[in-house]
Amino acid sequence: MFLVKNRQNYLFQFPPLLKMPGLVHAVASRIGGNSRPPFDGMNMSHGVGDDPEAVTANRKRLRQITGNGICVYTRQNHGTSIRAITRDAVARGEAVQTEPVPADALITDVPGVRLLIQTADCQAVMLFDPQKRVVANIHCGWRGSVADIIGHTVLRMISGFGCDPGRMIAAIGPSLGPCCAEFVNFQDEIPRPLWPFRVGAHHFDFWRISRHQLITAGLSDGNVHGSGICTRCNPHLFFSYRAAPKTGRFAALIGLDENIASRH
Ligand SMILES: [Zn+2]
Repeated sequence: MFLVKNRQNYLFQFPPLLKMPGLVHAVASRIGGNSRPPFDGMNMSHGVGDDPEAVTANRKRLRQITGNGICVYTRQNHGTSIRAITRDAVARGEAVQTEPVPADALITDVPGVRLLIQTADCQAVMLFDPQKRVVANIHCGWRGSVADIIGHTVLRMISGFGCDPGRMIAAIGPSLGPCCAEFVNFQDEIPRPLWPFRVGAHHFDFWRISRHQLITAGLSDGNVHGSGICTRCNPHLFFSYRAAPKTGRFAALIGLDENIASRH
C-alpha cells in the first residue's frame, strides 16, 4: 500500500486508515522541524543528544498538525512491555506529553489520546479495531520481532478491550526493508523459526515477519498494510540508524478523534 504525503509535505498517511471515521494517524518524516544536523529536522526524541528546545518545538508542531490531542510518548527498550492508557490514567495526568511511558507498545480506547512510537529503522506497527474503537502502536525492532511483541499486543487488545483481530486493521510504518536488514550473525541473533524469512545469504524480510505475526494473531491478510518504504534507502526522508548511528527519531502516531467517538 502506498503512503500519501499530506500537509506541507512531511506527513505520510495510509489511505486505508484515512478512510476510517474518527481515526487520526500519521507518520512524520524528518523534513521540516527545528533540529540541526545530525538530527535535522523533525527529531522527536529527547534521548539522542539533540537540543531539548528543538525537540519540544518539533513535538509541539506535530501535535498541532494532528489535532492537538494528549500525546503519549514511550521510553522504548526493545522489550515486550505493553501499557494500556486508560481513562483513569489520563484523568490522573499520568499520560502527559513530557513524561514518557516505559513500554514498547501502547493501547488506548480514550478519545483524544495520541499514541506515539519513535523509530529510526525499527517498525512502528499501528493497529485499530473499528468496532470497539481501540488503537495500539507498537515499537518493533528485530528484538521485538523475535519476541513477537505484535502477537502479545493483539492478545492484550483481545483480553483487555474485547477486540476482534478479524476486523482489526494494521499499518507497518517506514522501516528497515529486506534490502537493508543484513544480519551477518543471524545464526546467533535470529531464532531458527524466523529463518524462512531470510532473503539471500544474510538479509531478512522483517516486513513479512510482521505480516506473518499479525495474521497468526488473527488479522486478515487484506487488513495488513505495509508502507514499502525502507528507511535505510531513504535517509533524506526518514531517520535511519543504519545510515547514521548518530541521528534522530521520527514518530508514528495513532489515536481516536474526540468528536466522532463522543457520538458513540
Ligand atoms: Zn533498503
